[in-house]
Amino acid sequence: MLVFSQKSKLTTYLASQTSEHKTIGFVPTMGALHSGHISLIKNALKNNNITVVSIFVNPTQFNNSDDLKKYPRTLEKDIEKIKKISDKVIVFAPSVEDIYDKSVKSVSFDFDGIENQMEGKHRPGHFDGVGTIVKKLFEIVKPNNAYFGEKDFQQLQIIKKMVAKENLIVNIIGCEILRESNGLAMSSRNERLSKETREKSAIIFKFLKRTKVLFQNKSAQEISKIAAKTFKNTNNFELEYFEICDEEKLLPCLRKNKLKKYRAFIAVYADGVRLIDNISISE
Ligand code: AMP
Repeated sequence: MLVFSQKSKLTTYLASQTSEHKTIGFVPTMGALHSGHISLIKNALKNNNITVVSIFVNPTQFNNSDDLKKYPRTLEKDIEKIKKISDKVIVFAPSVEDIYDKSVKSVSFDFDGIENQMEGKHRPGHFDGVGTIVKKLFEIVKPNNAYFGEKDFQQLQIIKKMVAKENLIVNIIGCEILRESNGLAMSSRNERLSKETREKSAIIFKFLKRTKVLFQNKSAQEISKIAAKTFKNTNNFELEYFEICDEEKLLPCLRKNKLKKYRAFIAVYADGVRLIDNISISE
């Protein structure tokens, strides 16, 4: 399996491989791969001639240096996991210097306000970092199709917005959320949870499913109050936000509009580990 650590080598290789008829599928990740990532990679493999997976913990999207330091880095294991599904995948695992040169900074983007909601509100600068790295990676890999998980639904909408605003020629494909058997959304951060907290974290998806039922005859504001109470009564869990927003602009639902699709979004600290999840709650 080919593993590149330098962008110049990867671009040279890809230029030698691609022709008009070959498509490149691209899956950007930060590594510590789990079945959620693997499902994206399988999707790319099925629908493209060439599949590139990047593994890069992007410093500019972390607003908390401790979180960046603690982020799991497991490159050798990741490569083994990818090999198990196909040795045809091309892995790109660059250094921070190779990507950013000497200026580890993000570009400032205007995502029409989507960047100011939820994750953007609680992680200042996060989406500038995401936009910066994804744009850089798109320029290097030049994919026809790029795969992103609905687990990070706001990120998915941000990327779609960036592609539209900057006229980038790439299809953005959203992929469904993979969950552990107890419903907890798979995440590289789950590795930092104790066995007990990992089990207890089932409460997050359980509450999202309950939201879907509650939304049939309660307002978003009423459900938010129930969320606050539920997590206040759960030891070692701290609710950062719970919001019901429309899927397109990610604005909070003040009054239900039948023409809009809604999602419930949640961010919770479970024993100090930040977990996010979301669910479609429209019929
Ligand atoms: P990350 O490595 O966390 O940056 O994630 C890389 C990609 O995998 C992103 O597009 C995520 O949305 C996606 N992803 C992460 N967790 C899951 C999951 N549980 N199910 C589906 N996709 C996921």
